[in-house]
Amino acid sequence: MQPYTYRAITRHNIHKVPQYDRLKPEQKETIQIVSAIFPFRTNPHVVEHLIDWDDIPNDPIFQLTFPQRGMLKEDEYDQIRQALDDDHLERQRKVFRRIRMGYNPHPAGQKTHNVPRLNGERIPGLQHKYAETVLYFPAQGQTCHAYCSYCFRWAQFIGDQDLRFAARSPEQLVAYLRAKPQVTDVLFTGGDPAVMKTKLMRRHIEPLLDPSLAHVQTIRIGTKALSYWPYRFVTDPDADDLLRLFEEIIASGRHLAIMAHFSHQREMEPPIVHKAIRRLRDIGVEIRMQAPLMRRINDDPDVWATMWREGVRLGMIPYYMFISRDTGPQNYFEVSLAQAWRIFRNAYSQVSGLGRTVRGPVMSAMPGKVMINGLATIRGKQVFVLQFLQGRDAKWVGRPFLARFDPAATWLTDLQAAFTEEFPHQQQIEYVGEELVEGSTA
Ligand SMILES: *Cc1c(COP(=O)(O)O)cnc(C)c1O
Ligand code: SF4
Repeated sequence: MQPYTYRAITRHNIHKVPQYDRLKPEQKETIQIVSAIFPFRTNPHVVEHLIDWDDIPNDPIFQLTFPQRGMLKEDEYDQIRQALDDDHLERQRKVFRRIRMGYNPHPAGQKTHNVPRLNGERIPGLQHKYAETVLYFPAQGQTCHAYCSYCFRWAQFIGDQDLRFAARSPEQLVAYLRAKPQVTDVLFTGGDPAVMKTKLMRRHIEPLLDPSLAHVQTIRIGTKALSYWPYRFVTDPDADDLLRLFEEIIASGRHLAIMAHFSHQREMEPPIVHKAIRRLRDIGVEIRMQAPLMRRINDDPDVWATMWREGVRLGMIPYYMFISRDTGPQNYFEVSLAQAWRIFRNAYSQVSGLGRTVRGPVMSAMPGKVMINGLATIRGKQVFVLQFLQGRDAKWVGRPFLARFDPAATWLTDLQAAFTEEFPHQQQIEYVGEELVEGSTA
């Protein structure tokens, strides 16, 4: 367990990594070509401890973090190869931009919807969709220790989407929370907020511990650092300071939850991860695990069952299994809703009740978080039984509703209501109208 110093590995320096020599020439070319469109970043921990280089290209962590040929269409691939040889940089950029636009870089109002207002002004770096929880995007946390090849935030990593949506400091967050006593949770998200140095993190978090914000009972931090850079909590120069900051949050009477992104059990294997989890647990941090379900990475019930079992053993709580959303190289990673449910059910049935705290498979869709409860046959018709775990309108939450079975459907928008004209939320959306588009959820 050598105390590493973090170092980003990208398309510009990947050739210096010894393992790179194990790739075939066409695999090396794929990295250069695909990473011209989708962002690529990895680090020594991922390369040395997570990827099994004897199992390339099928290794799940290689698929998770390295660009893959199938992420682009054949003709695009050729166009990029040509463009990379073009000395005319403006022409080259145009090709890249056009191809990116074909991959829905800004899905379903990710950054523009649900931005709340204070005194009529939109507050950058905030999203408020469900009454209890405010999402906070600190500007300096909009990158990650490594990038997942399927990430729906890919556009922001390549600077396609500017960072004005993010918050440089928490003053407006604090003012907003003062005006919203119904908010109990603040979720720090990114990118990955754990890429910030502790000093910076403290500047964003400390103001929330003010006694005037006693209604904010829970601080959540969404991060993949336990997987991609566990040293953040153990051997990084400011790791101890980070734990002190976490202790202060807990000493203020609040719950601190790390929403840990784990895609595959391999990420839980290195001893440094166990150490990091132990240190967090020792000071009273709760760790919840979540990840999207992705073909070629974790579309196997045994992987999920192992993750939940191993996670529980290490002291973590299974939370969400997500269905991938419609952005980026989704065709390459896509799993149908029917398959997702089958994988979920098979995994769920393999673990004890302590692993069945997990909820899924879940779509984080425009009207809310929709869980597939299962398949049923009603009056001779096959249907999906669905349920809102979170809704723009709290009225929808917890009530089962039905959709016609469609084996090819991959998202809520592919589904048709069964036995009724529309889904409950479709009737509602017209009624919410302008508000929905403008995103004021006050
Ligand atoms: C998932 C999500 C939350 C948190 O929902 P929980 O069910 O409390 O985990 C909050 N806001 C948005 C926009 C979300 O997508
Ligand atoms: S860690 Fe999260 S935000 Fe970062 S690339 Fe992966 S999915 Fe995206």
